[in-house]
Amino acid sequence: MPNLRFVGGIAWMAVTIAGCGAAITPSSAKTPMPSEPTLINYVDPSVVQGLSTQTLFSGEAGNLHAHAAYPIVTDAPLLTKKLHGIVREGFDGFTRRNGLADALPKPEFNVDWQLAAASPEVLGIRLRIGHSKESGWHEARTTVWYDRVKRRALDSSDLLTGRPALVTLAGIVKSELALRRPLVNPNALRPDREMFDSLGFNPRGGLVVEFDDEQVGLGVAGRVAVAVPSATAAPLLSEIGLRAQRTAVAAKKVPAPTSREEIEAASTDKPPARSSKAGSVDCAKLRCVALTYNDGPGPETARLLDILRAHGARATFFTLGSNASTRPDLLRRIRDEGHLVANHTWSHRDLTMLTPTEIADQLTRAQHAIAPIIGQAPTLVRPPYAGVDTQVASIASRLNMAVVRWNVDPDDQQDRPPRAIADRTVTRVEPGAIVLMHDSHPAAVDAVPEILRRLSAAGYTFVTVPELYGSRGMVPGRIYDSGGVSTALDR
Ligand code: ZN
Repeated sequence: MPNLRFVGGIAWMAVTIAGCGAAITPSSAKTPMPSEPTLINYVDPSVVQGLSTQTLFSGEAGNLHAHAAYPIVTDAPLLTKKLHGIVREGFDGFTRRNGLADALPKPEFNVDWQLAAASPEVLGIRLRIGHSKESGWHEARTTVWYDRVKRRALDSSDLLTGRPALVTLAGIVKSELALRRPLVNPNALRPDREMFDSLGFNPRGGLVVEFDDEQVGLGVAGRVAVAVPSATAAPLLSEIGLRAQRTAVAAKKVPAPTSREEIEAASTDKPPARSSKAGSVDCAKLRCVALTYNDGPGPETARLLDILRAHGARATFFTLGSNASTRPDLLRRIRDEGHLVANHTWSHRDLTMLTPTEIADQLTRAQHAIAPIIGQAPTLVRPPYAGVDTQVASIASRLNMAVVRWNVDPDDQQDRPPRAIADRTVTRVEPGAIVLMHDSHPAAVDAVPEILRRLSAAGYTFVTVPELYGSRGMVPGRIYDSGGVSTALDR
C-alpha cells in the first residue's frame, strides 16, 4: 500500500521543491523530512476497491475556470452525496461572487482531494477547495469520514464524543495557537462543527486539526494546523474516531523520493510514451484526425475504450495525475489498446496563474504518477484551459513535453443530445484536426459511436496526436493546435 506524504494537501515532495506558495519555505531540495506533527500520510487511492474519480465540472472555456473532482466509491452512495453537496456549495458561493463578471484573469475554482485513511471499516476523504481572490489563492479544507460498517457519512466533528469534547479540543488548540501570535489570531477560534470540519490523524495517532486559509490567521500564515498528541486526543474520540485513528496509524509508509532530481528521474528514466501502433498510418497520404480526451481516467473511460476498440479507432488521453493514480488499471488499458497517454497536469490548475516551481510541480507530479504505471513517460502536455505562456512552454520544454491545444471544440460538456455533439464535431473536422473531448462527461462518450461512424464514412482515420506530424516529429516546448501548425512562443 504505497502512501504519499502530503503537507497541506500538496505532496511533501512537492513542498520540498516548490514550497507551494504557502509559508513553508524549504532551505534546499535535499532538506530531510521534518518531523512535522501535522503531516498526514495520505493513502494510495488505487488500493480501495470500487473507487473512481467523479468530475463535477471542468470547463476549458467560459468566463470562469472551474474544475472539481472528488472520489466516488461504488458501495458508498451516502459518501458521494455528502462530498457532492460540499463541492456544490463551494462552487455556488464562488459563482455568486464571480459568475456575472467578465473579469480577467478569469476567476478560478479548483477542488482536489486525498485519502486521509482507508480500511475495510473506515474511509477519510480530505477535500481541498481552492479559489482565486484578488489577494491571491485561497484554500478551504474539509475532511469527510465514512463509516463502512454502519454505512454512514460523517462530519469530522463526529470523530469526537460530543459537544463537551469539541469544547475541550478547542481549548487545547487555542492555547497552541496563542503561541503563534501574531500570524495567528487564537480569538477567532470557536468550538463549532464548521470550524472543526477537517480532522485527521498523523502516523503516530495524533489528531490533526486543520483550518481554512485566513480562518484563524492572516493570509501569510498559509495552512494553519495543530496536532494534538494521541494520548491527549484519545479520550475525546468517539467509537468511529478511535477506528479512524487506528486506521491512520496502521497505514504503511513508503519512503518518498527526497530530491527534485529523484522526482524528475522517476519520470524521465522511462522510454517516451508512444502508441504501440504508431507508424502504421501515414497522415501525409491519409485523412487523419486526432480525437483527444481530457480529464480522465474516470467512470466513463472504460466505456469509451470499448467504443474505440469496436471501431478500430485510436485516441490521445490527456490524463490528470490525480485520476491516474486512482485508476492505474484504466491507464494500462489505454496504453495496451494502442492509444497514447499524455499529461493534463496533476490537479487541473490554470498554469498561467502559478509560479515556475508550482508549474513544474503540476507537470512533474503528473509524470511521476503516470510513468511508473505505464512504464513510459508522456511526451505531450495539455495545459488546463489551454493556459500557456512563455513560462509554461519553457518548463514543458525542460521536461521534454510538447504542448498540445486543439482546433476543434465541439463543446461536448454541454448537456445537449449526443447527436448535437456529433454534429458539431463532424461539421468542424478537417484533415489534421485535433478535437477536444472529455471522457469525464457521459454525453461526450455517448456521442462517440456516431462521430466515428460519420467521420469514417468521410474517409477519416483516427490517430494519436504525434502521428499527425509523422516523421517531422513534435518538439518539446512548441505549441501544437492542429496537424498543420505549430508555434513557438517568444522567449
Ligand atoms: Zn481539462
